[in-house]
Amino acid sequence: MKQAFIKDLAGLVDQEVEIKGWLYNRRSSGPIAFLELRDGSGWIQAVAVKADLDLAIWEEIEKSTQESSVLVVGNIAKHPKKENVFELQVKDFKILQLSQEYPIALKDHGPDFLMDNRHLWLRSKRQWAILRIRDAVKTAIHQYLHQENFISVDSPVFTPNACEGTTTLFPVPYFDLGEAYLSQSGQLYIEAAIASVGKCYDFGPVFRAEKSKTKRHLTEFWMMDAEAAFAEHEDNIKTQEGLLRFIIRHCLNNCQEELKVLERNTEPLEKADQPFTRYTYDQAIKKLNEMGSDIKYGEDLGNDDEGLLTKDSAVPVFIEKWPKSIKPFYMKQDPENPDLVLNDDLIATEGAGEISGGSQREDNFELLLAKIKAEGLPQADYDWYLDLRKYGSVPHSGFGIGLERIVRWITGVEHIRECIPFPRTISRLRP
Ligand code: ATP
Ligand code: MN
Repeated sequence: MKQAFIKDLAGLVDQEVEIKGWLYNRRSSGPIAFLELRDGSGWIQAVAVKADLDLAIWEEIEKSTQESSVLVVGNIAKHPKKENVFELQVKDFKILQLSQEYPIALKDHGPDFLMDNRHLWLRSKRQWAILRIRDAVKTAIHQYLHQENFISVDSPVFTPNACEGTTTLFPVPYFDLGEAYLSQSGQLYIEAAIASVGKCYDFGPVFRAEKSKTKRHLTEFWMMDAEAAFAEHEDNIKTQEGLLRFIIRHCLNNCQEELKVLERNTEPLEKADQPFTRYTYDQAIKKLNEMGSDIKYGEDLGNDDEGLLTKDSAVPVFIEKWPKSIKPFYMKQDPENPDLVLNDDLIATEGAGEISGGSQREDNFELLLAKIKAEGLPQADYDWYLDLRKYGSVPHSGFGIGLERIVRWITGVEHIRECIPFPRTISRLRP
């Protein structure tokens, strides 16, 4: 018999199917057993009636333990009361491997215990839903960017220099060449690639030795950097908004079941798919001060400020044109005000915080060199990056988004550690 997948069972009503998967839970009431099965594609309740089965099959069912791998044959029936819910009426049941006593019982465990057992915890319905939404977000990113004529170009993980400041680097011994660093962002490399392919993006793990123990910082996270030649600040804002709204729609269209598992209220997501709000940094500081924050002009926005600023907003908020003193060397100065740069941070709704950061890049050789010198960066490390301004420099812009930050926002999950399969934080490296 051909293996069927739970996600397809709606089309197989009244047919006999074979399902291979795991036993999530078993409840018996006398001569009837209720088996909750999962096969990766979905979840279904199977009903076994002792009187309808050979004794050997019934005994196999009674022997089965939580998380045993199993093969079940049965008929698909519509749930007597619930729309779009199906049941498997068991005809045959085989244990493929009898699971030992499973450490994660179907009750509440503390987060440390669950994180220590992350390799098993991933099987829970909640983690299954998060993994699938993470996949949907990645798919949406690839789809949207290709639709906008970006192609994917991979950047290296071992790098000789810093992209986002030298305080959060992970050094790695590198043969006779001294120290390499794990990449904090592939941006500088894809800036080189746009002169070949025009528009491109990378998407992979980046590393930051963040000492911050917050609910939104990991030391290893997935970042997508996009970069486009002949794109200016305004184009860059448009692409970020277009991408984020596409991601929202894609998840709403494809992940209703997963969002339901997570008890996510999808109304705020639906409402977020409208034109985003824009403040200049200057306006944002004034607004925050009016709202009671003691943030001063020239300071970075903290988590509380980001929350305050978006508190009453149905849509994400761009904060653009920041003081150049608090932003990285590669951002282009605002021709209308040399103290500012043409950049943006994008703050999501519902307290989810910063999800994307972008800028037009400095394309003028002299200005970029002056910035590198002023910040005391080792010029030799940036020779190749400066070359890009010597040979056919063009206005260009790009942005970086953190995958887990977006997954956290879409799922409504409180802690970012659940938004990546195997999280790395300042205090966690296992499993
Ligand atoms: P934050 O102020 O929240 O620490 P950042 O300004 O350091 O963010 P960028 O350097 O602009 O962030 O990185 C681009 C994107 O990468 C951010 O908008 C965010 O989505 C994500 N990001 C940055 N740091 C982390 C981290 N430690 N863990 C997870 N995602 C991160
Ligand atoms: Mn940071």
